[in-house]
Order: sequence, then C-alpha cells, then structure tokens
Amino acid sequence: MKIPQDKIDEIRSSADIADVISNYVPLRKRGKNYIGLCPFHSEKTPSFTVNSNLQIYKCFGCSAGGNVFTFLMEYKNLSFIESVQEIAEQYGIKIEYEEEAFNKQQDEIEELYDINLVAAKYFSENLFKKSEGESARNYLEKRRLKVQTQKIFGLGYALDSWDSFLNLAKSKSIDLDKAKQIGLIDVNSTGGYYDKFRSRIIFPIFSPNGRVIAFGGRIFKEGEQGAKYLNSPESKVYHKRSALYGLYHAKESIREFDKAILVEGYMDLISLYQNGVKNVVASSGTSLTDEQVKLLGRFTKNIYVLFDADAAGQKAAVRSIEILLKENFEVKVITLPEGEDPDSFINNYGKDEFAEKVKNAASFFEYQVEQLRKAGKLDNVNDQTEAIREIVKNVALVKDVLRRTLLIKSLANKFGLREKLIESELEKIVSPKSERIIKPSLIEAEKQVVTIDEVKRIPELEREIIKLLFEGDSEILGLILDEVHDDDFTVEGFKILSSMIRSEFAGNKNVTTSYLIEKIENPKLKDFVEKLLLEDDPISKKMWEEYTNEIVLRNNKIIFAQDVVRRFHILTIDKTIHTIQNELNAEKDQSVITELLQELDALIKEKASLRNQHENS
Ligand SMILES: [Zn+2]
Repeated sequence: MKIPQDKIDEIRSSADIADVISNYVPLRKRGKNYIGLCPFHSEKTPSFTVNSNLQIYKCFGCSAGGNVFTFLMEYKNLSFIESVQEIAEQYGIKIEYEEEAFNKQQDEIEELYDINLVAAKYFSENLFKKSEGESARNYLEKRRLKVQTQKIFGLGYALDSWDSFLNLAKSKSIDLDKAKQIGLIDVNSTGGYYDKFRSRIIFPIFSPNGRVIAFGGRIFKEGEQGAKYLNSPESKVYHKRSALYGLYHAKESIREFDKAILVEGYMDLISLYQNGVKNVVASSGTSLTDEQVKLLGRFTKNIYVLFDADAAGQKAAVRSIEILLKENFEVKVITLPEGEDPDSFINNYGKDEFAEKVKNAASFFEYQVEQLRKAGKLDNVNDQTEAIREIVKNVALVKDVLRRTLLIKSLANKFGLREKLIESELEKIVSPKSERIIKPSLIEAEKQVVTIDEVKRIPELEREIIKLLFEGDSEILGLILDEVHDDDFTVEGFKILSSMIRSEFAGNKNVTTSYLIEKIENPKLKDFVEKLLLEDDPISKKMWEEYTNEIVLRNNKIIFAQDVVRRFHILTIDKTIHTIQNELNAEKDQSVITELLQELDALIKEKASLRNQHENS
C-alpha cells in the first residue's frame, strides 16, 4: 500500500502544525512562535517551540524536532504512513492508495522495517504455535515468564534449521540482499544463503516508536555451542549505539514517574516489567553509550543504575555512571545482595522488596565511597588521597556548576576535608594547562586591504544563506541556487544541505520548510537547521539592522536575499585575496609575482563592482 508523493505533499501543506500539536500540548503565543512544555522530556519552563509559518517544531531542551508528521510519529508512536493517514482524516482529505508488490516499498528504510516485521511474526509463530517450539516454551516457563509477557515483548523462537526463514522470505518474494543487510540471513562460501538465527530464543528490539529494528537471539539448550547472544548487525534501521532495549515499553512509565531504571539484560528488564516495574531500560550487554544516554534524557534525567552484583556488573555500572554524569543525569545506584541479579531478585523477593531497594538507592557518590571502603582504600591516609582523586574525577564530569558545588560540599563532609582542597583537585582535572588555543598569527595580513574580521564572517553569511534556503520561498531558492554553488560553502555540512535542497528543487518538489526538514538524513544537521530556523538568531538581527534603511523600508526579502548572496561573494573574494597576499609575501620568483598581482587586480575589480551593486541595492 503506497500513498502517492503528491498526496503526501498535499496533506502536509493542509495541516496547521500549531492546530495539530495543540490537541496534545497546551501552547501559547510568544512573538512569531508558539511555546509550551515539551511532551518529549520533563521540564518546568517551556522550551518547546512551534512555528506556524515554517510548519515545524523544535524543543531547545531535548532537541526533539520536525514537522507535523514527525510530531505524531513521536508523540503517538505512529509510523510515517500512519501519521499521514491521521492528518488526512483530521483534515478530511481522501487518500487513494497505489497497490504495490512487497518489494517496491515507499523507500528502502520502510522495506527493511517490513522485512523485520515479517521475521518477527515468523519467530513468534514458531514459539507459540509450532510443535518445534516446545523446548523454547518450556525454557521460558522455567524462567517464570508468563505467556502474556512473552507476547508483550514479541518474543519468538528461531527453528533449529538452516533455511526455514530463507524459504519463507523466498515465498514472500522478499529481497534477499536486503534480508542479508539486516542480518536475518547470510551467504556461505559457495554463495548460498542460510538462516543466521538458529535454535535461539528471539528478543525483537524495538525503536522508541515501536518498530522492529533488530533481533537478539539467545541460546538456551543444554550443551548448545556458540555465543550466548547473537545480535543483528548495524544497519540502516538499527544503530546499535543509539538503541535502548525496552524504551518503547517503558517510556510512558518513565515519563509518569520521571525516573528510569537501567539494567543490563533483556531478561532482567522483562522480569521487572512482568512484576509491575515498568520504567526500565536495558543497555543489553554492551556498555552504555553517549547516544543512548541522550535518547533517554528526552524522557527523564533521573536514573537508577541496577547491575548484577558480580564484579563485571559493578564495573559496567561505574562506566555507565560516568557517561550519565556527563549528560547531567541525577544518578542513583541500586545494590542487590551478593549472588542476585534483577531477574532472580524480583522473582525471589517480589515487587515490594524491590521498591524498598529503589527507595534506599545510594547516590552515585555514596556508592563509590562504599565501593572504596569495601576495597579497603579508606583505611590509611595515603590510600585515602588516591580515593578522593578517584571520586573527584567523577565529580568533574558533572557539567552543572551548582550541582558540582553541592557534591564538593558533601564530599568534604564525608571525608572531613576542606572544600578548597577538593576544589583544587577538581581544578586540575577540569582545566588542564594544555587547553590554551594558539591562534594563527594574522597581524601581517590585517595590515593589507582585507581585514581578517571580514573573512571571519563567511560562516555567518553561510548560515544566513542556509536559513534563507530552508525558509522555502521558491523565488529566493531559485535566486540563491543560481548564484551560490554547493562547493562555495566553506562549512562541510552546508555543502551537504545545499546540494540536498538543489536536487529537491530541481525535482520541482514542493519545497516548503516542513518538506525539506523531512529530507535531512543526518540528525546533527537536522537539529542544526531546526534550531537555526526557530531560534531568535542574533546574526539575522544584526544583518537586518545593517540593511535596515533600504531593506526593511521596502520590506523586500528578495532584495535582502540578493544582498546576502552578494556579501557572501564579496567575502569569498576577500578570502582569495587574502590567500594571494600571503603567497605574494612568500614568493621570490618575479614572474609568479607578476601573475599573482594580475590575479589580485582582477579580484579587486570584481569586488569593487559587487560592492557598488551592494551599495546601490
Ligand atoms: Zn524537549
């Protein structure tokens, strides 16, 4: 089922983003924007911004952002198509679908999701309906997982076979190369395909919106060979570093309680969930990454770390804590009795005992002192100094100055030390001497025709041009794209953006802001553009003031755009002049000097002409 692209464009441009969002989030008008409390992270002062002209939203707290479709996808856990359908319904637009074969999906990513979905259903049927699934059913029963829980988490079973998924894939004419891309099948040395997951319990991994992005397969039979866990490889739909197991199931509860519990494994998480503790996510074996922590930070900044009581678990806990502190999380540590893991503990002691453990969780810092005490590191003065350094190292990770000060106070109390002493230890870590940046000497250059201050403004003007491009005015787009080439930009990311807009514009697409935003693939660039468009940009203001007399009075944005481009060209010429001047200073060969001078002369003339146009515009 496919919705034609022009229909999607029509639906996108019919919706008013402020209307749609205000169904879910109270908004009030401020300046040219609407603001409200962000639904994607917990906050007390509004940083969630919606702009009706550009039809986009952006949260300056957690960076969530996008257009009307993105909002529904994130807020209501819808797929792209579902969110298009929802808006269409709301605005009474009738959709005519184009029928299509499975392997001609809307785009490649959608196709990969669909293949994963087929696989997830297949694994699930093996587990619940096939006689071969009995051993897996028995195993999960032994692990005290209820059937209902197994279904909630979409658990499945990969048959003990080399080709049963492969045959299913063929029968559904699934693109085998794509199934290989997402690690469901692989190729052997003779070029034949085979099933990657065999004789394993399958844990589907979901995106925060509930789409199947990958699988984890666990061996469970006595004496079975191979790695305990087999995971899907990195792919276009599965970015290991930013996937957090269980977030889809936990997010409502995390928002509700404004805290999350972090465990290590799938089974820990599922057991806790079954016992009513639902605000849990799992780092699933690997150590926690910055990306995972940033993602979680959109839901809460309070985290309880709960790792196995064994040495490996505790080591992993300490590593995770460091990353969490860097992202300004309030970190607590839950400690279980020796020999217990979260799964065994909740099953042996129940929910209330567990709640008690959460209540008594130590701050990361108390926890660390306790660990050092256990290791005997607080017994004599020498070791103690070492121990303090160890702890201060973590305090230094906390970016928030106020929180850091409070931590220093309590550290001082705990050890009976002067705060100054700890501060000076901290100082050594926070500002190492090597941080001074040496600026290239430009004194000589500054004496020349072109001052470096002007050249330094190139990135500012480039930002201004990018901003104009994304405002989606086709006349301005045409004008800028004619005059500025992708390679003219000095900032690498701007080249990418400019080239993307160029190809969208060439395809005669409906190049509105909200359409263009959807097309940015790189999340960092997308974040940048959204902020650029919605923030009260001091650079724009400065530019406007510079042109106030002519431009604002005429109230003509086109002239403004033309002039920005002209200024950009002038500065680009300045940059070249600058380079030539430096070459001239170093050059000894008279014939080269003559050539350079001619080039310089031509550039100065070109610049003068542009400047003239600029002044008369
Ligand atoms: Zn937010």
